[in-house]
Formats: sequence, structure tokens, C-alpha cells
Amino acid sequence: MKDNYSILFMKKSFLFLLMISVHFSYAQNYDTYISQRKSNLKFIDNSIHNKKTTSDYKLLNSKKFFGKQFKEEKKTKRFSLLNQTYNNINIFTATLKINYDQEGSIILYNDNSINIDLVSDGEFPKQELVPSYSNISKKYILESSKNYFPISESEIIPTLKLYYKIGQETFIVVFNSDYKIIYRKSLSLDKTTIPTKSANASVFMPDPITTAQVVYGGNIAHNEGTSNSEIEAQQVDILIECKHENGIYYLENDHVKIFDFSAPRWDVVTSTDGNFNFNRSQVGFQQVNAFYHISSIKEQINLYGFTDAVDYQIKVDADGENGDDNSHFHPSTPESRSTLEFGAYINGKTEHIPDAEDAEVVVHEYTHAIINSYSNRRNTNERRCLEEAMADYVAVSYATGISAYNWEKIFKWDGNESWNGRKATSDKCYSNLHFSNNPYDHSDIWIAPLMDLFFSIGKETTDKLVLNTITALDGNTTMEQAALIMLKMDSTNNNHKNSTEIFETFKKYCILNDGHLSNDNIELSSFKIINSKSFANGGELIIDFGKSFTGDIKIYSTVGYIIFQTKVLDSRTLELNSQYFDSGIYLINIQNENTDITSKIIKH
Ligand SMILES: [Zn+2]
Repeated sequence: MKDNYSILFMKKSFLFLLMISVHFSYAQNYDTYISQRKSNLKFIDNSIHNKKTTSDYKLLNSKKFFGKQFKEEKKTKRFSLLNQTYNNINIFTATLKINYDQEGSIILYNDNSINIDLVSDGEFPKQELVPSYSNISKKYILESSKNYFPISESEIIPTLKLYYKIGQETFIVVFNSDYKIIYRKSLSLDKTTIPTKSANASVFMPDPITTAQVVYGGNIAHNEGTSNSEIEAQQVDILIECKHENGIYYLENDHVKIFDFSAPRWDVVTSTDGNFNFNRSQVGFQQVNAFYHISSIKEQINLYGFTDAVDYQIKVDADGENGDDNSHFHPSTPESRSTLEFGAYINGKTEHIPDAEDAEVVVHEYTHAIINSYSNRRNTNERRCLEEAMADYVAVSYATGISAYNWEKIFKWDGNESWNGRKATSDKCYSNLHFSNNPYDHSDIWIAPLMDLFFSIGKETTDKLVLNTITALDGNTTMEQAALIMLKMDSTNNNHKNSTEIFETFKKYCILNDGHLSNDNIELSSFKIINSKSFANGGELIIDFGKSFTGDIKIYSTVGYIIFQTKVLDSRTLELNSQYFDSGIYLINIQNENTDITSKIIKH
């Protein structure tokens, strides 16, 4: 920074002159700029070639962070999230997120930091003056903080970042020195149409269409919120673990609490005899259904090892949204105050199926809470679409794990009457797509390859890869980057077992292409020498470098003479024919600036 001081000073003066002339113009809106920034995703090579030797690794591990200043915001065993600062004040959306493997070694980082070149003069706006310059009255304001705001990749301006809440919806808004709003976003997702004891309960598993294996209609339909014997036959008796106190059972456990915080103000059911058996015409049914499926998906991800996701009791209004056909995840600060809300059905208001009756809707919403635990920034249109598609995948995987019937349709029960649900398949090509501010436009392009993987490498493997990928999301992640992260997670956690399958699957939808294979950090397999038995008996030896490799290959006799040598240029494999070798034992050495490996081979 010192070297740039004079340049900085000159630019500041220039800007000051400029500001005088434009002072009274309407403030520019930076929603578009922020919503299109792309993070710089870098992988650290953690293969045997050069673990921990890269300069990035050293800079991150020494906490030098490329010479920029950061404040740590969150640290878990999986990742650190740091916010870039200037003069100890946070820079809006300028983050650095670092992910670790199980041993705590850095495997990748997402860099959204700014190369500060120009810092605009001006005062930080004050919270107490906001009501007089805007329509945000004092009672709606939750909190605010001084922030620098990036108006380009090198310029920051002093601003006030403020959270305010109207009804259940929280907004983030940024004011510049002139008290003009330069950025505003709703934090709520899914504005779509779209000590315990065991108790007995009855739920849909996952929905009546799937268990009855019928098309929507007749008795297996909404029918103005009524029940009948045919639809009740689709209910499944299960045990739920719930709070038991002074002889009363509550829909509450460590993971979830059914709570009435939103209209219609319908009471939460309790039980004195340990039975929560309702049919769908009764309020308790939707409450029990939401309670059961949230508890169940949380147990499942805990078993997968993601106990740090939604590690708080989430409050859920299973019959809210004032009776609209809507559901939301409402993130909050602190995270443990986040809530979920599902639209109730009020007779005669609009004809729609209550969202909490469909396990896929319940799990979709809960997945936003999971993602929020690992990545609570959603800056870009594509990142928001990616999140919706991830939530759709977790929902469809959950339901398909129960039954694969009609798996291609998402929201098999809820997606009737007022809307048609979404698709888990796609015939699109990623490279042709433009992401608008409707996050559902292209969610199919991301869930489709995930469902292909679900069927080719299995539910549990795909679920874990998806969750691991979610831990490395940041506010600007693209689908292309997420696919590369998934490959990296497979390399790190499964020793490349599924890498070729993952690569080929994403390639089918143009999310990845052969060009990615020349990326130094993309490994489809670990380094290995294959076919050595065949070589011993006169066939070929194949060296698989696991990625594009450039270096020298030498074969020595046991007494140290070079028998053979060749240069490899940008190749993933090398084949050696044994016919040029006499019987005996040889040492093969593979070397470049990062690598020096020697292995023994035999020719009979
Ligand atoms: Zn959603």
C-alpha cells in the first residue's frame, strides 16, 4: 500500500473534484454490479506431487492473505470465512473463504477481495439520520454498521449497511454518504408459488401421489383441504421424538420447534397421551408433517457427518404466510434466529395445497437453512439459482430415497392446483444460458446432472458430495465453479473414485468441458502406475498422472544407468512398451519442478 500512496492521493483529489460536480445527481444503483461479480476460485494441489508447497498455500497458512487486511467472521473445521477490511472497517461482499480437508490442510479458496486502489472521501452515513432520508422508519431497523462498498474491483466508498424488517421479511440496504440507497436486497428466500420421548404420529411419506402411484385427481387431490379414506390410506404411522414435560408432548426437539409466529394464528398442537394422529383437514397434520420431515433430514445429514449444518433449533411455522401459497426460509443474525414458514390453507382463500404437506417442499426449505450455515451470502443471480437447484436436489434425493416413483417431477403433491412444480431433468446446455433475477429459470441445469449422479454413483455418495460442495460455496459461486469444487471434493474425500463419472456427467450439460482438464488442479484420478503385471509379461505399462502433466520420465537399471528417457508435454498418461526392455528390475523416475517420484517395475 505504501508504494501506491501518492497515486492514491492523486486519485482521491481527482475524485473530490468529480464529486463536487455530481453531488446532486441521483445515486447509482450497484445491485447489478454486485449481482454479477464472479469469485476467484483457486484449488490448492493436495496430490502427492506437491502437497503444501504452492505459494498460495504458504501465503494463506501464514495468514498474510496476499498482503490484504481481513477480519475473521466464522471458522469451523471445514472452512474459514474472512471479510476484507480497510482501516478495520468491513468491505461489503469482499470476502475470502478457505476450505480445509479432514486433516486441516487447505484444499481451496474463494477470493472476492478488492485490490484497493482508490478510496473515496466522504462521511459514513449515520443510522439515526436514515428515517429522515428514506421511508425506513426507526421501528423497522434491526442493526447497522459502517461499511466500505466496492463500486468497482479497485474503488471503495464509505457507506452504511443496514438491516430492517417488515413483517417476517428482512432487507439489507446500503446508503452512500448522500443518504441515497445504492443497494437493496431482501434476505428471504423462496418467494415462490410454489428431554424427548417417542410419540405416535401419522405423516405423508413422502407424499400421497408417490405412495398411491397415481396421477393427481379424484380422492387423491386437494379437494378444498378435506380428507377421505383413500387419502388417509396414504398416511404412514411413524414414531417421532418430541419434548415431554409435565405429562405433555410438544412438537419440539433439538432440531426443530413448531411455533406460531405468523398469520393465521393457529395454535400449535400438543398431546397428553403421546398420539399425534391427524388427517389433512386438521391443523395438526401439517405441523406434524413438517416436524417429522425436518427432524428426519437433519438426522440424515448428521449421519453423513454434517452436524455443523443448522446446529440450532429452527423455529417453524407450519401454517403461516397468511394463507398464501408461499414458503420461506428467513435467515437472521445470529443464525440461530432463522425461521421457516410454510403457507397454510385457509378455506376459500385460494385453492392450493398446504406446502407443509409435501416432504419435498419441507426439505427444500430446510436445505436453505443448511446452505446458510456454510454460505450466507447470495450476491449473484447464478449463485441464487445454484442454491435453489441444490435445495431441489436435496429434496428430490430425500423423496427418491423413499420411492423413485415419478422422481422427475419435483413437488409431486404440492405442484398441483395452483402451479406445476419443477423438473429434475434438463435438456439445456449451460454455456448457452443467461441467469436472470428469477432464480428458478435454470435450476434444472444443475439438478439434472446431480440426479444422473444419484443413479450412477448412488444416493449417499452424491448426497455427501453435494453437501461437501455446499460447504465451499461463497456469494458469487458459479455452477461451473461448483462442478469443479465437486471434483475437488471427490479427489479429497474419495480418492478420485468418481471423478471421471462426475466430469463426464457435467460435460453432458456443458457445465464442464475438455478445456477444464488442462487446469493444473483438476485430477480425475490419483497418480498411479497401472498394468505393471502386463508389462512384466511383455505388454504395456501405463502411467496415469491423474491430470495434465509436463516433466521428465527416466528409467534406470538397479545399478543406476539410464536405460530410457523421455519428456512428457501436457499429457495425462504415458504408455511404455516392454519389448524394448530386457528381463530385470528397473526404477522409473517421474520428475518436474513439483514432483519427484521413483517406483520399481519388473520385466520377466
Ligand atoms: Zn428455495
